[in-house]
Amino acid sequence: MAQRRILVGGIAQESHSFNPVLMGRSWFTIRTGGQAVEAARGSNSVLGGVVDAAEANGIEVSVPAMFRAQSGGPVEEAVFEEVRDIMCEAARRGDFDAIVLPLHGGMLTPSLDDPEGALITALRGIVGDDLPLTVGFDLHAHVTPEILAGCDLLAGYLTNPHGDQGQTGRRAFLAALGMLEGRLRPMLAAVHLPMLTLGNDRTDEEPLLSLHARARLAVETGEACDVSIFNAQQFLDVRGLGQWVLAYGNGSAPNGLALDLAQTLWDRRRELIGTYPSLDEYLDRAARGTARPLILGDQGDRVAGGSPGDGTFVLRALLARDDLPPSAVPIADAAAVQGCQDAGPGATVTLTVGGRYSTVSPPLTVTGQVVSVGRSAQVVYDGPADAGYRITLGGYAVLRVGQVHVVLTDQPYSYLDPGYYRAMGIDPALMGIVITRSGYHFTLNYAALGDCVTVDTPGMTSYRVAELPFKKARPFFPLDEMDFTPRLHRCGDAVVDPSATQSPLA
Ligand SMILES: [Zn+2]
Repeated sequence: MAQRRILVGGIAQESHSFNPVLMGRSWFTIRTGGQAVEAARGSNSVLGGVVDAAEANGIEVSVPAMFRAQSGGPVEEAVFEEVRDIMCEAARRGDFDAIVLPLHGGMLTPSLDDPEGALITALRGIVGDDLPLTVGFDLHAHVTPEILAGCDLLAGYLTNPHGDQGQTGRRAFLAALGMLEGRLRPMLAAVHLPMLTLGNDRTDEEPLLSLHARARLAVETGEACDVSIFNAQQFLDVRGLGQWVLAYGNGSAPNGLALDLAQTLWDRRRELIGTYPSLDEYLDRAARGTARPLILGDQGDRVAGGSPGDGTFVLRALLARDDLPPSAVPIADAAAVQGCQDAGPGATVTLTVGGRYSTVSPPLTVTGQVVSVGRSAQVVYDGPADAGYRITLGGYAVLRVGQVHVVLTDQPYSYLDPGYYRAMGIDPALMGIVITRSGYHFTLNYAALGDCVTVDTPGMTSYRVAELPFKKARPFFPLDEMDFTPRLHRCGDAVVDPSATQSPLA
């Protein structure tokens, strides 16, 4: 028998409806063919998990294109179309046995609220209904009826902060393999919930901890063959925004399990709304001295949540005090990078930085010394999240203003791994305060280095969702109260229960 081959690839990005900065092609890490396989092999990424599991089973992986970027504004139409066309052209060649797509879920383009659904539907239309097609998504994906109808199995991360990217790819691959070998016939029980989780939604804490334990037990005992619980990206103004519980059985759908998990999620919805400590509280703590660096997540301007990354709220607070240890704070500002590069290392410059897109913090004028500049830098993630993942940063400059190291970049970055700072010549271990543009994930990758806390700051990714101009996504809890009873999703169903009555709170 000829060696089996799987078609793998696509586009992975998470969008924010209210970030006005469209994401162009240059923001993506683009890999194709053997280079894509080589870079992913052994890494804790969805593609890495697919590659490793496939190769362990003697199956060849063909990657026509893998576009990956961090979160941000919607993706330019042409970028999505390029990937879709490459994948569809490869699908038409038909020289493979199954398709496995390592995506994020929750991407937007200016015209599409569900590009992943469009990609999956297009591929399904080419290969027909019988070819196994499975998908791996981030836990924060926006799942749609089109996606569920188009794939045989959708696997989402089971951890937040995310540590099981590779395992998710492996689950998606093994489902396709099980179907190829005639051992698996996935049957889906799915429930949609019109609600958001807003802060108290780590999977290693209640209430999600016990919900995932129940799901895991169901898989271990054979009640289901795969279960995912999606907590949607909160900043998508799309119809049907909300939570999904997906439970796949082999040959029969585990309806009771899906309904049980969904009912628990709904019943505990108020517990999933969290609060964060104030920035001032932690700056006071830093001023008193701490044994390890304080690693602070800037909740309101999380690039990891799709924010523009040019918010000056934290920088302003750091510069307003003279009792703080050395700190590092990132600001995305291409013009300021250019200003530092023009002046050169050692020069003293006065620049206006940040505040161009972030809605709540205006630009700030600072005077400081240019410490270093660069046209690009290589980041390798320490992990554990995405350990081994490599990306190339664009232009950057480090500007020192007193004790504050302002890390200027021409694109926004999440800083969810200490590798970002090291790539630009800053050792985060030598700082008293390090700011990241992430709310959860940095807590895994900085745990060895410092004490990680996400602080309540205003901005586009603050969980004060009443301040955001949602239109298409409503009604959803907690902005709308409604009588709602979880029920099984049927093919063709609308995702918002039309019988739900709601009374807007905000
Ligand atoms: Zn996520």
